[in-house]
Amino acid sequence: MSFDSLGLNLAIVQNLVAVGYQQPTPIQQQAIPLILNGKNVIAAAQTGTGKTASFVLPILNKLASGETQRKKRMRALILAPTRELASQVQQNIERYATGLNLKSMAMYGGVDSAPQKKALIEGIDIVVATPGRLLDLYTQRALHFDELEVLVLDEADRMLDMGFIEDINKILEKLPEARQNLLFSATLSNQVRVLAKTAVRNAVEITL
Ligand code: AMP
Repeated sequence: MSFDSLGLNLAIVQNLVAVGYQQPTPIQQQAIPLILNGKNVIAAAQTGTGKTASFVLPILNKLASGETQRKKRMRALILAPTRELASQVQQNIERYATGLNLKSMAMYGGVDSAPQKKALIEGIDIVVATPGRLLDLYTQRALHFDELEVLVLDEADRMLDMGFIEDINKILEKLPEARQNLLFSATLSNQVRVLAKTAVRNAVEITL
């Protein structure tokens, strides 16, 4: 199985060749075609399985195709439990998005928000954020949800363990109804399933 055959566009496939990936991992083989098809997806996948690329690649494909004019507002939002994970995901995005004219940034607490606000004014397509900082930025009107097309809850079980459920629910209330929703979690515990019920309706479920 090749990345081509999953339906990704040539520019992205070429970036994967440059990064040195030879073939998609099992989670990528399952998730990428579904996400490209616009499905909501819930996936049980541990770190190390290639889960990050399984949602990042189809999101890049979706945002890069069609529109030539960049919108100034966030079109994809990836929520992650820690600053480390948010940074890692954003670094992955940069590697896969070479030449695509899409901007991304990791936004988390504990650091000055001024550079984040400045970047948002200039225009960020993909925001990778921890829930608390994202809400702060929203409350300060530094970012807007009205152009949001895709939401990802990454490591949902850890976000719940860390007590982010209230922040996540506040964020969910503010998002546009018509959007694609993806949830990745090491385990699909009952708690995660409760969250999935409100955040990711009519989802296709993937377990490895
Ligand atoms: P993740 O599970 O997303 O944390 O990814 C684990 C590691 O696998 C990361 O270092 C990725 O760069 C790498 N990786 C992801 N997809 C592939 C692939 N198709 N082939 C080789 N390495 C990959």
